[in-house]
Amino acid sequence: MVSITVYDGAESIGGNKIYVEAGDRGVFLDFGMNFARRNAFFDEFLSERDGRGIHDLVKLGMIPKIDVYRRDLIPSDLDGLLPSFSRIRPEAVLLSHAHTDHCGNIGLLDPDIPIMASATSVAILKALKDISPSDITGDVAYLSLKKREGEGLLLKSDRKEAYRGRQFCCPDGCRPELSEFLSDRPGSEGRNAKAFDGCGVCEKISLPFEVKSYGVNHSIYGALAYVLRSDEGSVAYTGDFRIGDDAKGLPGFLADARNASALIIEGTRAGLESDTEVTEATVHDTCRAAVDDSRGLVIADFSSKNFERLETFKRIAEETGRQLVITARDAYALYAIGCADGVCHTKGVLIYDEISDRSRRKYETETLADKCPLEYASHRQIHDDPGRYILCFSFLDMKHLLDISPEGGSYIYSSSEVFTEEQEIDFLKLKNWLDFFGIRPYGFRLIDEKLVFERGYHASGHASQKELAHTIDKIDPDVLIPVHTTNGEWFTKKWERTRLVKNGETLSI
Ligand SMILES: [Zn+2]
Repeated sequence: MVSITVYDGAESIGGNKIYVEAGDRGVFLDFGMNFARRNAFFDEFLSERDGRGIHDLVKLGMIPKIDVYRRDLIPSDLDGLLPSFSRIRPEAVLLSHAHTDHCGNIGLLDPDIPIMASATSVAILKALKDISPSDITGDVAYLSLKKREGEGLLLKSDRKEAYRGRQFCCPDGCRPELSEFLSDRPGSEGRNAKAFDGCGVCEKISLPFEVKSYGVNHSIYGALAYVLRSDEGSVAYTGDFRIGDDAKGLPGFLADARNASALIIEGTRAGLESDTEVTEATVHDTCRAAVDDSRGLVIADFSSKNFERLETFKRIAEETGRQLVITARDAYALYAIGCADGVCHTKGVLIYDEISDRSRRKYETETLADKCPLEYASHRQIHDDPGRYILCFSFLDMKHLLDISPEGGSYIYSSSEVFTEEQEIDFLKLKNWLDFFGIRPYGFRLIDEKLVFERGYHASGHASQKELAHTIDKIDPDVLIPVHTTNGEWFTKKWERTRLVKNGETLSI
């Protein structure tokens, strides 16, 4: 018998933590952060306290009470509670992709649990940790072990202990450049620096299931779907996916998953009233028209992990005689992805030379300068000839416009259209910045302070209703389990085999 426990992600978009077990051996499908629950309590200036380890998350019910967490994150006041945690021993996490709602709680997991992921996802996770080394939720690729202080209520990083790298398994193989990237941490060479013992990486691990992975199309590179087989049944998991204009490895997944005992499928767009099909090709054409229309500076705003969109703007820049200028963070992530797939993603791009203390950014001054030297564009250069550039900035980079001082120009908003009310306030602020410099927005408008998105500037990374139906009908599973959705009823109405599970519920198949 195979059993599936959806510890989280059954009733929300994201936060997937799905435990699949055969006999008493099991693996997790993803171990993500549930943003909906986190945002119910925390915001930008009120967050969980790193110095209390997992205390705040356990207390607020943000992570399941299972005994899988790092021992060094357990403060003394949780010692008494720990014996009540369910005892499971996952043999691996099979990660679908590097979005935080799928990987954001891996940082809390016992580092002895290996992580299976695509080489590209591993590269992205390592780059993100190198860029922002601070909090425990970011401890996916490697971590800083903590020690109890005094009575043990407070946990502090042990400076003498080396950073501990996690063990990864890349079923699609690991190039030597990636192995090297995973064994080195920018800034760890210094005399007083904390050492880094490197991340382990292999191509195969022994698991309770025969596991096959398939590259799928999503709004981040490196997304995988999985099929798990055992004598007792098979489970197919889509992760997040779309078909769009390139189905990638989906046909192989559909063939191998056919007649699976259970299909666990994402349903982000299930039940959306206006579910329109916009592909990356449409986004290219719409954004290209906006750039053609623009004199002066063009600013392109898209999700920091959407590297495919970055490539779309790189193509538009080439077609319109402009150069793409990206942040050093983005350049470092692109360099990392290149280590995984052997493609030079930074060819022809410039790095924005922001006014800041660059000596602190070792990933830029050590790794990038050495392995992937790129030209910089200064605020003066961009000010003097703004029509030559497309600048990849987001709202948080607006402060740099005070140095560039553009006179007019365009701002193309090419990102997700799903927002909380909190973020709408940011659009008011964004509009103030744009008005201040006389920059015209594309992709969104504010009408009487109400936010309206313009079509064609963004393509969702998730399967449309038609694509979901196609996937389910092709696989024709015995049991259909929708996750990553707030519209489970859309599935129940269409497929009788649908089982809507609640968080924490176990289904035996
Ligand atoms: Zn995703």
